[in-house]
Amino acid sequence: MVNAFIGLGSNLDNPKAHVIKALEELEQLPHSQLLLASKLYLSKPVGPQDQDHFINAVALVITELEPLTLLDELQAIEQRHQRVRERHWGPRTLDLDILLFGDQTIHHSRLTVPHAELPNRDFVIGPLLELSPNLSLPDGTQIQELLQSCPIDGLISIEA
Ligand code: AMP
Repeated sequence: MVNAFIGLGSNLDNPKAHVIKALEELEQLPHSQLLLASKLYLSKPVGPQDQDHFINAVALVITELEPLTLLDELQAIEQRHQRVRERHWGPRTLDLDILLFGDQTIHHSRLTVPHAELPNRDFVIGPLLELSPNLSLPDGTQIQELLQSCPIDGLISIEA
């Protein structure tokens, strides 16, 4: 069994509802259990600014799935949300990322873990700290240390 942190994001078509529904779907993941879900956070879009703000959250699941099987399951959930992707970093109905998979480092054509953008995204670091203040990356970096280069002051938590 491995602890996996999963990032959720949406900025299209009632994003809050997409994120809440996705959390419910994470409860149904096979051979897995949803342990914790963060608050919902409002964040400015990365990339093109002519799009709505995102709703983000992070979930902690404990799973027996292999990392690529977990990715398949997450992509199936994304598909069920009729994800629309017109352009890179553009609006999307639902984005699910594997942020951390235990203490594993994975370099695969379909999967990079820890997620490559984890250190640069306040909407990931904030909820990770909320769920697990003493969490560290596989290389030993404390998540707390990431605040120096990526402050989370602009992050707004909202009522679910
Ligand atoms: P995006 O929708 O921009 O998050 O990118 C989706 C693509 O990223 C998919 O084709 C995945 O195979 C790939 N990918 C690489 N690493 C990860 C990860 N840690 N979590 C989710 N998708 C990933």
